[in-house]
Amino acid sequence: MLGRPISRRHDCGKHCAPLNGGEPVCCTTRHAIPVVNREEWQLLKSRTDLWHHFRPFDAPSRQIKEELPSSCLAIECKGAAFCERDNRSLACRTFPFFPYFTKEQEWRGFSYYWSFEDRCWMISYMEKVDAAFVEELFKSYEYLFKLDDSEKEPFIELSASMRRVFTRWKRPILLLEKGKVWRKVLPASGGRIVEAKEKDIRRHGPYRSETAYRRAVKEAEEEFAED
Ligand code: SF4
Ligand code: SF4
Repeated sequence: MLGRPISRRHDCGKHCAPLNGGEPVCCTTRHAIPVVNREEWQLLKSRTDLWHHFRPFDAPSRQIKEELPSSCLAIECKGAAFCERDNRSLACRTFPFFPYFTKEQEWRGFSYYWSFEDRCWMISYMEKVDAAFVEELFKSYEYLFKLDDSEKEPFIELSASMRRVFTRWKRPILLLEKGKVWRKVLPASGGRIVEAKEKDIRRHGPYRSETAYRRAVKEAEEEFAED
């Protein structure tokens, strides 16, 4: 299940890690807390001791843990230096993407966890995603949803919430469909989906330009040196 990297030519972690004390952003629970269902937890536990239950370290992380449905668990690995590729969670393998559902609850492709726009390089450079990865991404979720239809529910809610946020921001939501086809959901349109092009991918935060990136790396190095 989903063994491929997002992009064979681009190791995205090399771009975000310098802004995060040397660790890829999605591999640190300060930023992203992997959530798994109980079946996946049992499977991971049977294969490796890489993972343990996530221990909240502040009020927001406590809230994330408390608000999870009882079928899910927040977990944490030993860190990027100890990563075992074959024992990554589905959350690791698919980040930053999630299945996007229309208002009518039709699965239309993938969008991304938008709150990471300022930290995840891949979101700014989605054109670098390999078509073969996209293919596997679809297959993995097709399999998951076939096994258990209720797995769709959090993504249906997340998609609705993304539409609300992007309508407020007056921005389209970019979608990745099968065959690496781009579409966009227009804001304040009742969820209307139209064609999109790679040029619709926006660069965010420190990834806006080389200068912005260099400045952000310098600031991050100073900040982590002080800690
Ligand atoms: S998916 Fe995003 S956050 Fe994770 S390693 Fe790649 S660029 Fe960094
Ligand atoms: S298992 Fe690997 S990919 Fe997943 S969070 Fe840990 S270091 Fe990152």
